[in-house]
Amino acid sequence: QLRVRYAPSPTGHLHIGGARTALFDYLMARKHNGQFIIRFEDTDQTRHVESGIASQLEGLKWLGLDWDESIDVGGPFAPYRQTERLNLYQPFIDQLLRKGSAYHCYCSEEDLERERAEQEAKGEMPRYSGKCCHLTPEQAERFEAEGRKPSIRFRVPEDRVISFDDRIRGHVEFESNGIGDFIIVRPDGIPTYNFAVILDDHLMQVNLVIRGEEHLSNTPRQILMYEALEMPVPDFAHLSLILNQDRKKMSKRDESIIQFIQQYKELGYLPEAVLNFIALLGWSPKGEEEMFTRDELIEQFDLDRVSKSPAVFDMDKLNWMNNQYIKQADLSRIVALCLPHLQKAGLLPADLSDEQQEWVNRLVALYQERMHYAAEIVPLTELFFRDEVEYENEETKALLGEEHVPIVLRSFLEQVGQAVSFTVEQIPVMLKAVQRATGYKGKQLFMTIRVALTGQMHGPDLNVSVFLLGKDKVISRLNNLL
Ligand code: GLU
Repeated sequence: QLRVRYAPSPTGHLHIGGARTALFDYLMARKHNGQFIIRFEDTDQTRHVESGIASQLEGLKWLGLDWDESIDVGGPFAPYRQTERLNLYQPFIDQLLRKGSAYHCYCSEEDLERERAEQEAKGEMPRYSGKCCHLTPEQAERFEAEGRKPSIRFRVPEDRVISFDDRIRGHVEFESNGIGDFIIVRPDGIPTYNFAVILDDHLMQVNLVIRGEEHLSNTPRQILMYEALEMPVPDFAHLSLILNQDRKKMSKRDESIIQFIQQYKELGYLPEAVLNFIALLGWSPKGEEEMFTRDELIEQFDLDRVSKSPAVFDMDKLNWMNNQYIKQADLSRIVALCLPHLQKAGLLPADLSDEQQEWVNRLVALYQERMHYAAEIVPLTELFFRDEVEYENEETKALLGEEHVPIVLRSFLEQVGQAVSFTVEQIPVMLKAVQRATGYKGKQLFMTIRVALTGQMHGPDLNVSVFLLGKDKVISRLNNLL
């Protein structure tokens, strides 16, 4: 049975790279009736671990993922965070020491620094020389007496070619001579990532490891340890990098793309759209179709269609896709997403009357087709809240200098002034009357009214826009112009 895991180091919010790894884990597990495990690798203690854990889980939940084993739902291989598993590692450390596959190393930071500098000066690839490997018991005792705390290093066998068949990258080979003996337990007794990860994966019976390409060079180290401990080696699938729109490696500070799932939630993206988009970061479906529900992804996904070349994160495409989902979503859902943004911008009160609610519903409906994400409702609809008309540009404003404009506007003002009711059905009736009275029609009529009232040449349905502006704003905007 397939067992996959997502093993974040919870130092911060859920990043799109992590979300993609988790999604591919999830899809594989669900597709093959396996189990999806989330384990936290929190041995690199930083201040934000607790909030990091909560926010990772929250982000994954928001995306619509669920999991079979983790710290919140428990599971047969608990605990699911490394700092609570430290006592499980000791027997394996003992085993490696006993076999001579690991040894104590007393080198200080300064010793190692000196060694590195010497190797670099000689033009060699810096790697640990292995000098503590051959310490006599007396030498070790002397270091202990000096109060030095040893780390434990794994002894890398010489002249070995370590190879594996990556599920994405195919056959991969590394030479063991390029790898120095590496630390598996730090002087404080905490195991390093490379060591803890293989023990946890083994103990949790993980048989497929999906993770980012940045871990590819760790894999030969991990395979050597599996072998030394006589444990089965899991399958590996290393996902390619995600590049930004300029096809450059994305840095956490890159602002050309939104990188954290939390931010998508805050901006009012729809989780199913973000999920759909993330699935396409490296995976290509069989046909032309690009829009997939979670269940469709489970059905269609497999690692054999995951590319080893980098994925490019196209923000425009994500916005396009999110717009597609917004268009199809229930209006009430989109209203619920937009409203807090309007309130936060101070455009609407915290408590709405029934009438205000009805008005917002219509306002959001008017823009549902155009919106890329909910926060966009503020710039899109600000014009309905302002007292003054703001023109989108000089060209638009210049349109109001034309001869027919005052005639059209005066006639429309008259219509509005006389109107007994100002309903959405009434607006086209009034416009028709203006046409009859002035002889102007088409662009000269409609564009004039639109520009005069909204400051924009193009926009959504004019009748609804005029209606939502309301009688008072329409009259005062027309008066101001005339
Ligand atoms: N904690 C590691 C990371 O976040 C996990 C790597 C792995 O999946 O083995 O990169």
